Amino acid sequence: MSSSSPHTHSFDPDCPFCSLANHSPPLTQNNIDVLPPNVLLSTPRVLAFLDVQPLTTSAAHILITPRAHTPTLLQLSSQDAKALGEALPAVARAAAKALGYNDQDSNDYNSSPDFNLIQNNGPGAGQTVPHVHFHLVFRKKNSSSSSSSSSSPTTGFSLDSDHTEKIAKTMLTDSNRFAKTPALRWSYAAQVFGRGQRTDLDDDWTHHIVPQLRKLIKL
Ligand SMILES: [Zn+2]
Ligand SMILES: [Zn+2]
Repeated sequence: MSSSSPHTHSFDPDCPFCSLANHSPPLTQNNIDVLPPNVLLSTPRVLAFLDVQPLTTSAAHILITPRAHTPTLLQLSSQDAKALGEALPAVARAAAKALGYNDQDSNDYNSSPDFNLIQNNGPGAGQTVPHVHFHLVFRKKNSSSSSSSSSSPTTGFSLDSDHTEKIAKTMLTDSNRFAKTPALRWSYAAQVFGRGQRTDLDDDWTHHIVPQLRKLIKL
């Protein structure tokens, strides 16, 4: 595969991730300044960038996508799947370092950074942008408090845990009924799979963290 021959990628002009990909040529030392400020990684196949609407409970909220417009995981090509498979841990390692975890912490389960990797397919499962993407959501470090309030600032997607528990129980005890209740299904998807409270991405923090992340990602 020659890097000079352009890939023929499918492109959807109405898709925000295609638009971002279009403005993000594959990253080299020469074009690093032309990348949009929230883009961390831009290769011929994969893009990683800070979510412009991060979850309020996150220490870092990163999206990782194929460059090609791919509605769900079912259409992902094996080449893009391989590229994404390599990018996911590479971006996670970089983020852990940028957030202050050393290798020793990161390699130890007990002191590991807390983060989720989330990938939704279809509107009923909470997918809102029809271009395959993985949410890499790093949690704020637990400041050693074990408050048992119903909203969990360190572990939740702003979860109402009682509500979620009820939904989860309903799902377990009556999966048929669960499937037939769109509102409940949506509520479950929204809360459990990452559609919690969002905030605007902070510009100052972006300017601080993005150059570090670009350097730290080793593919
Ligand atoms: Zn797209
Ligand atoms: Zn999403």
